[in-house]
Amino acid sequence: MNTNHLYLIKVGEISLKGLNRDFFEKRLKNNIKAKIRGYHSHIITQKGRLFLEIDASCPQEVVEHALSTTFGLVGYAKCLRVAKSEEAIREAARTLMGEEPFKGGVGSYKAESRRADKHFGFTSYQLDCILAEEVHRIHPDLVVNVREPEMTIYCEIRDRAYLYTSPRAGLGGLPVSTAGKGMLLLSGGIDSPVAGFQMAQRGLRMECIYFHAYPYTSDEALKKVITLARLIAPYLQGTRLHVVPFTDAQLHIKAKAKSDETTLMFRAAMMEVANMLADKSEALCLVTGEALSQVASQTVEGLSFSDSYSERLVLRPLVGLDKAQIIETARAIGTYETSILPYEDCCTIFSPKHPVTRPDKEQTRANYDALIMEPFLLEAVANTTTYDFSASGQLIE
Ligand code: ATP
Ligand code: MG
Repeated sequence: MNTNHLYLIKVGEISLKGLNRDFFEKRLKNNIKAKIRGYHSHIITQKGRLFLEIDASCPQEVVEHALSTTFGLVGYAKCLRVAKSEEAIREAARTLMGEEPFKGGVGSYKAESRRADKHFGFTSYQLDCILAEEVHRIHPDLVVNVREPEMTIYCEIRDRAYLYTSPRAGLGGLPVSTAGKGMLLLSGGIDSPVAGFQMAQRGLRMECIYFHAYPYTSDEALKKVITLARLIAPYLQGTRLHVVPFTDAQLHIKAKAKSDETTLMFRAAMMEVANMLADKSEALCLVTGEALSQVASQTVEGLSFSDSYSERLVLRPLVGLDKAQIIETARAIGTYETSILPYEDCCTIFSPKHPVTRPDKEQTRANYDALIMEPFLLEAVANTTTYDFSASGQLIE
């Protein structure tokens, strides 16, 4: 008896990557495997497809979670693999008729076949007819509807015949770790987890940084960020969260800076620390959740000012998005409910009533430099603590 389950995986953009295809496919395989550790499995590659064979003891939710959170695949389906013979295909079709979604035997359906192997003895149309015969043999009440069927039985003829009925959409994008590494500035808000998701979609691997101003920001605020890091970890293929104690730096800024410039000063200080941590982690860029004009510091002038304190490229994948669009993604990836928990992040508590929105870069830089932040920043980096999260989204104790 076969004790493995088989999943057909459709790869998207990476199948177009020409000479680099092997590199992208290898990453994708490793990324999937990282989420099903502990279960015997192997993945084979075919043109435009991967096949994941996994021990049947692995719960379906675990496989589905792995495949639905991994960038680089556009779809997947649990499938049956049988010999390329008419009888074997008929038998597989009958097996699928006993399972969801066909099991109940009511509603409309269609059969959809394709031949990657053009030498196969039947055309796609003939195969569709064969499948339809078996469907009707088991479920005589089902009606064909080729335009808007409620259910579909698929058959792909390749090295063997593959049949399935429940394809799911994947995330698309590119496998994480094909685009180098960055540092995500992860606050407790709605935006930055989405920013991390967006950059992971383009293959960037990321570690996260959270600036914590205890006791001005509570333990609950830290717990919330830890939860957010855990929630995005599967998309990021695992991550490390650096928690930077920022209270002394912020108090110094609050005491010494002009009050309408405090937010800008915090942001410059964050950029400097993020660059120091990026040095240690060998990351090439920073990622933030800023969007143009969303808040006072996110003007072109404000962003240019904070950019000037980063030696590294600062990626802002949300820069042109509306809050409504960002919220939509936050809901889809499951971070929204956590992000809206009420614990304030440090910027809210320390933010001035009338912040400067259009800083003069040279003047504001001079004001920042006069604060002599370096000792505070070095101290903050030295006292940074880390939390690690696995690709399947567990905090590694
Ligand atoms: P978010 O919803 O991500 O908190 P926001 O709209 O509240 O963003 P800001 O608070 O100005 O905007 O923060 C802009 C970006 O700066 C955040 O998206 C995040 O990348 C970074 N950031 C802000 N505060 C922190 C913090 N305490 N720790 C780490 N990064 C932060
Ligand atoms: Mg915020």
